[in-house]
Amino acid sequence: MYDYVIIGGGIVGLSTGMAIGKRYPNARIAVLEKESKWAFHQTGNNSGVIHSGIYYKPESFKAKFCRDGATSMVEFCKEHGIPHEVCGKVIVATEEEELPRLENLYKRGLDNGIQVKKITPEEVKEIEPHVNCLAGIRVYSTGIADYKKVSQKYAELIEQQGGELHLNTKVLNIRAMPNSDVLETNKGNFETRCVINCAGLHSDRIAKLGNVDPKAKIVPFRGEYYELVPEKRYLVNTLIYPVPNPDFPFLGVHFTKMIDGSVHAGPNAVLSLKREGYKKTDFDLRDFMEVMTFPGFWKLAAKNADEGIKEIIRSFSKAAFVRSLQRLIPEVQSEDVIPTHAGVRAQALMDDGKLVDDFLIVQGHNAVHVCNAPSPAATSSLEIGKAIVEQIPSPEHLPSAVNA
Ligand SMILES: Cc1cc2nc3c(=O)[nH]c(=O)nc-3n(C[C@H](O)[C@H](O)[C@H](O)COP(=O)(O)OP(=O)(O)OC[C@H]3O[C@@H](n4cnc5c(N)ncnc54)[C@H](O)[C@@H]3O)c2cc1C
Repeated sequence: MYDYVIIGGGIVGLSTGMAIGKRYPNARIAVLEKESKWAFHQTGNNSGVIHSGIYYKPESFKAKFCRDGATSMVEFCKEHGIPHEVCGKVIVATEEEELPRLENLYKRGLDNGIQVKKITPEEVKEIEPHVNCLAGIRVYSTGIADYKKVSQKYAELIEQQGGELHLNTKVLNIRAMPNSDVLETNKGNFETRCVINCAGLHSDRIAKLGNVDPKAKIVPFRGEYYELVPEKRYLVNTLIYPVPNPDFPFLGVHFTKMIDGSVHAGPNAVLSLKREGYKKTDFDLRDFMEVMTFPGFWKLAAKNADEGIKEIIRSFSKAAFVRSLQRLIPEVQSEDVIPTHAGVRAQALMDDGKLVDDFLIVQGHNAVHVCNAPSPAATSSLEIGKAIVEQIPSPEHLPSAVNA
């Protein structure tokens, strides 16, 4: 019998396992991950950015966890020798109509306690000589990290604290017992007094298995990236972002210097026809039908038809993708970029067509379900883990094992 079993070995599940082990050193803890490696899905296919927290509504979990998380992530990387760099970023307006939105973003940065500075096009050029813009913001605390290595380190620390790690272990069903839950997996049963669902792209399904209605469905949005060919990496020194469309939850295609020195451009945001569908041709009937029969999806599609169509065009046409990049760096040419990896975002969507904006953590009976942990959850992972520890009963307050 375990005290706490965490479903999902992405950065959120592993950070949570680590935080529980730290708080309750004598607790019996296990992390179950269906893949053969940690951080196999969202965590291992993201942009690798330590976000500052500038974008998020003040007082939201995202704003708080991201701002604090950026600091704790950098400290964690320093402490454990994980490659990272606090290189800062620029957000630039390239059209007149973006100027008021850039100003709002600047004010939001100040409201969120982020160190930001308005900069002129000339000052932008001092940081990023190849960018053409009308105005910019410098965000100092943005950085880059290797989140696969961060996750691996979280896993090692869980083991050092005495926790169990189970790869290749897929939760298939949750059977409620009077004082515990039995997690039925392909590797046998795990009985636990508390379940923590950090299953990312499958978190809504796991919540339902645990008899919790998250009131939102996960809709998968694929983000495809190009990479600058090595000879053109000189075009980007740090991270270059456009002003995001406030009606759309994603940040717009941008340039990101990665921690290995490569420069990625993207990601776009297209509906994925499979929850873990990394290729355009990937298709899963169950995943597809669930989206198509979900009224919230059609409401979202009707509201964002223009943006959605642009994203689909950008996905199928390299020329369209490159045109978006040229808004930031006019001299980028089609032959300068080659397709690279893709990631799939788990974005929770409500019945009324509204995307769940904030992190969503739902309480069950001796259970916690993380039902929306999109970007910046990698940055915020240490803070999300700590917050979950506050929400779960301590081992003394968990029901005693009388089932057997
Ligand atoms: C394209 C893209 C770019 C992003 N860029 C950034 C960024 O730059 N900075 C940032 O902070 N955030 C970024 N994010 C967001 C960030 O990557 C995610 O918010 C974060 O990785 C979520 O972590 P997670 O542990 O919740 O999910 P995941 O990493 O997806 O982990 C969930 C795990 O649960 C496992 N699982 C699912 N079902 C089961 C089951 N039944 N049994 C056992 N295991 C199961 C899965 O295999 C998976 O490994 C980005 C995301 C994407 C997709």
